Amino acid sequence: MSAITMRELTKVYPGGVRALDALDLEIADGEFFALLGPSGCGKTTLLRTIAGLEIASGGSVHIGERNVTNLPPGKRDVAMVFQDYALFPHMTVQENIAYPLRIKKVDRRSRADKAAETADELGLSGLLARRPGQLSGGQQQRVALARAMACHPQVFLLDEPLSNLDARLRLEARTFLKRLQRELGVTTVFVTHDQAEALALADRIAVMEGGRIRQVGTPTEVFRRPANTFVAGFIGSTPMNLVDAQVDGDELTVGRARLPLPDDARGQVTDGERLVYGVRPEYLDYSPTPVPGALTGQVVVVENLGSVSLVSLDVPGDDTADAADADATGDGGTAGDGGGRTSVQVVVAEGGEPEPG
Ligand code: ATP
Repeated sequence: MSAITMRELTKVYPGGVRALDALDLEIADGEFFALLGPSGCGKTTLLRTIAGLEIASGGSVHIGERNVTNLPPGKRDVAMVFQDYALFPHMTVQENIAYPLRIKKVDRRSRADKAAETADELGLSGLLARRPGQLSGGQQQRVALARAMACHPQVFLLDEPLSNLDARLRLEARTFLKRLQRELGVTTVFVTHDQAEALALADRIAVMEGGRIRQVGTPTEVFRRPANTFVAGFIGSTPMNLVDAQVDGDELTVGRARLPLPDDARGQVTDGERLVYGVRPEYLDYSPTPVPGALTGQVVVVENLGSVSLVSLDVPGDDTADAADADATGDGGTAGDGGGRTSVQVVVAEGGEPEPG
């Protein structure tokens, strides 16, 4: 078993930065798990603390049944792949892959066999005699993965594994990494600040902020059912619209708009309750003419995103909304409240976009 369990894990760096704050997290055996969050939230520290490259200031880390909290990296049975791959430039691909086996004092013959076998699995067989400087970024990444795999670790730890690759290679490497992880079935934790990458690759994602976990869930859960406004605002290629609203029977009032209460909110809210209502720009419909009860606002920016456009509307929060311009309707709503102005974004299919103003 190679589940990873963290209990009240805390890391305070010299100087007092609390990078991990009594964090609890369980990663299941065989899971492909992403640590996601804004810069400085503690992702790398968490990964390095699992690896044993940082020593916890408090709390514990278990891998399977073993308490590894105070074990050095070499005794944890984990392999880490660093962002810059950290290959040895003076060694060949074969020597790089075999290096951890050399440290483990595996004999020369077995090392060579194992390196060849691993290189074969990762499509590197023709490159064994080359040095890292003679490889592309994608090939270097595969060598780094091969070096990590050669020892059959219980856990893979990947720090921003795709960030050094260009956009096209990145997509290719994503597919490759996902397939490899499925085939190997090794518990894998990867750090990324790229949410599209986390959503595409991970079985589950932990969204972090300030050394704490704000939500753990499948990509669908964190995308569709964010646990709080931080996760709601962080996940999604365009940020979720978050507006103040009030429950009024079967409806929500948002400024002067009245929107149907979403089905899954029924029974969970009380009449008159004030809340923050979130709806993704892709779930709103846009109409160039006013629709009764819908949010009404002025188009301020139209961004062309290729096959769709992102339309930003300035929605007045009170009854002074003029008869202008555009409505956002749909299975959700948005808008301002009590006199302020709120920016609401709507994704509009090609050809349906308005002119700003
Ligand atoms: P990024 O996405 O920018 O890499 P991160 O989420 O991985 O960020 P960490 O690198 O884990 O964040 O850093 C968490 C916090 O700890 C930050 O405030 C950072 O400045 C601080 N920190 C990281 N390493 C050290 C260190 N060696 N000494 C002191 N503070 C540190």
